[in-house]
Amino acid sequence: MEKNYTSTRNTSIQALPKQAILEGLASDGGLYVYDDIDQITLPLSDMMKMSYSEMAQVVLRALLFDFTNDEVNTCVKQAYEGKFDDGCITPLVKSGNDHILELFHGPTSAFKDIGLQMLPQLMSVALRDQKDQSVMILTATSGDTGKAALAGFEDVKRVGITVFYPDHGVSEMQRLQMVTQQGKNTCVCALHGNFDDAQSGVKEIFHNAAFQEAFAKQGVVFSSANSINIGRLIPQIVYYFYAYKVMVEQGDIAFGDEVNFCVPTGNFGNVLAGYYAKMMGLPVHRFLVASNANHVLYDFLTTGVYDRNRPFHKTISPSMDILISSNLERLLYYMSGKDADYIAELMNDLATKGQYTLRSDVLQRIQSLFYAGYATDSDCIHAIQTKFKSDGYVLDPHTAVGYHVLKQYETQDHAHQSVLLSTASPYKFSKHVYQALFHETDEDAFAVMEKLEKQTGILAPKGLKELKNLAVRHTHVIEPSQMEAFVENQTKGILL
Ligand SMILES: *Cc1c(COP(=O)(O)O)cnc(C)c1O
Repeated sequence: MEKNYTSTRNTSIQALPKQAILEGLASDGGLYVYDDIDQITLPLSDMMKMSYSEMAQVVLRALLFDFTNDEVNTCVKQAYEGKFDDGCITPLVKSGNDHILELFHGPTSAFKDIGLQMLPQLMSVALRDQKDQSVMILTATSGDTGKAALAGFEDVKRVGITVFYPDHGVSEMQRLQMVTQQGKNTCVCALHGNFDDAQSGVKEIFHNAAFQEAFAKQGVVFSSANSINIGRLIPQIVYYFYAYKVMVEQGDIAFGDEVNFCVPTGNFGNVLAGYYAKMMGLPVHRFLVASNANHVLYDFLTTGVYDRNRPFHKTISPSMDILISSNLERLLYYMSGKDADYIAELMNDLATKGQYTLRSDVLQRIQSLFYAGYATDSDCIHAIQTKFKSDGYVLDPHTAVGYHVLKQYETQDHAHQSVLLSTASPYKFSKHVYQALFHETDEDAFAVMEKLEKQTGILAPKGLKELKNLAVRHTHVIEPSQMEAFVENQTKGILL
């Protein structure tokens, strides 16, 4: 039997991994899932001796079944070798009693590099089988995805990339990282609106059949670098295994013990990759889903009602300022017993009414594995202060949201060790971090970065310091209603 990925909303829509990677989203708007992922068993005890790259090869080979071993190995090498400032790729740091998995050692200093250094490699391989095709990547970003995608796709042949970000909705460092992006095939555009406006605009373009067809005739397909793409999601499974390996190696747990993972969450991609790791055999007790003041996920996981009709809050953890958590759809698919009709119904409710209510049996199943919590901005600031005071460790605001939720959860679970996923370098958000720790600030983002270095003794990533000397290359600002025309122009300019 041929193995295929299928749409969460219709199992008759099928694709092999390469095609799923090129498409991003399934043609009915569903997300590609692999039904038998829970039948895959990885050689867990062998993996306890592997390097990050070796583990990545094992995980990718298991899920990308139309890639040859050579193709996978080359992709892993090109994605990670020499690109990260730590040889472990994702080092697990022990700080006080906490285990912190630092996912921010890639070129853009946020965890999105893990997926987005890999996705372009996978896409290039997939394009080899499609001789006359080019791809335009369209991405909405709440800050970190955009830069990580731009860095990953810069000057990749037969690929263009257009990134939309909410004007005034990202940190100064995040903005500078994007607008200084090099590469003949890259384009960055600010939007008068929030992240959800940007994401909805991109989704609308994907749903516009006439628009797609017109470009398809000229050999251009549109794809996404958002975490709905399996080519970005799958690489993220690896660091869950890697963290487990280091815990065993250091004697923090015995092989086979279950652990918890606490994940600062927005679009649900990161924590979903953890769930995939569990389905593939990783011993996990609980996933702690940490949200900020936009706690639509907390409300959903505690009540079963997903309701996006609510005010949108701008917080100091902007990469988690999200009201529609796209990858949740994949969790619902597996937790409902792979019931695509049911998922189609829920997503239709979400699209038409802005909300849906989950069946109670499905909710209970989810609740037995996922704990939810949230932190307000003041909880988050308090967490940054507490952790620095007790252990001299500097948390970025997103990781601090996770820290707050982890401390809440730890009062009720003394039996398991937990790993906190750190999703960004504090230097990407120097102003808020410095303000939290030293109660003053500076208008100049680079001055604050230097002060933070001096006062904490922790060095800022080189890539962020160097931004100061780069010229701004991208200055577009548009309304959401202009997105389609903008994409049309860019696509013609870059690919045709
Ligand atoms: C994207 C991002 C998140 C949220 O991750 P999801 O996969 O969308 O849940 C959290 N923290 C940072 C720093 C991010 O960039």
